[in-house]
Amino acid sequence: MLYEGKTKIVEIRGDEAIVRFKNDITAGDGAKHDIFEGKGSICAELTAITMGYLNRQSIPTHFLDFYPPNTLKVVALRMFPLEVVVRFVKTGSFIRRYGGVEGESFSRPVVEFFIKDDARHDPMVCINHLETLGIASKEQAREMSDTAIRAAELLRGFFQRAGFDLWDIKFEFGLDGNGNVIIGDEISPDTCRLRRKEEIFDKDVYRHDIADPIERYKEVLEACRSIVSQ
Ligand code: UDP
Repeated sequence: MLYEGKTKIVEIRGDEAIVRFKNDITAGDGAKHDIFEGKGSICAELTAITMGYLNRQSIPTHFLDFYPPNTLKVVALRMFPLEVVVRFVKTGSFIRRYGGVEGESFSRPVVEFFIKDDARHDPMVCINHLETLGIASKEQAREMSDTAIRAAELLRGFFQRAGFDLWDIKFEFGLDGNGNVIIGDEISPDTCRLRRKEEIFDKDVYRHDIADPIERYKEVLEACRSIVSQ
């Protein structure tokens, strides 16, 4: 079974899957779209590094193995149609919804759930509605929220050691064959906000045409490689 999405091709092989990262980058629910040579391999390797780190910290992710340059072996998951965002800092859609000052820290992490639905522009959803909507049980929703916060806090420390501030991050979750709630999809500068002082190292570089995203993404990869090899 082969599924092709905006940035990845997924082939299910029994209880495992092979994920090939494409060079495509999109923003605005797919309205902006480009191809950058080398982008797929950078995001695949960063997903392998960050998810490998979470696995070692006992946060279960789907990551099993990295086949350079751009392919991962993962656990096949039945995905929840959700994006779970953890925020340490005010930015992006949070400010568009509620106002506030760009870059201002929260005293504790904020978690938000969004339904993956490009046609409806990924509407935000109340955690209490997930069961009524038939998307996830109360327990699964609670587990996604708790795991997302723990994973985000661990990754914040990880990226700090690599020299970057993690402002926010998006996770996707699925169920493995035993019904365990596991982090899937990818973790890369496409799915989080990474800053070093005023400089931007994430997809906002592309969203706002600030610089060549590949140059910035490469810098993140090299910094993360160097801390895992220490
Ligand atoms: N994000 C993502 N995929 C999406 C929407 C958001 O990976 O479809 C990430 C985004 O890169 C950021 C975080 O989730 O790191 C929070 O995004 P936000 O809700 O602020 O939306 P945006 O401003 O990106 O539209």
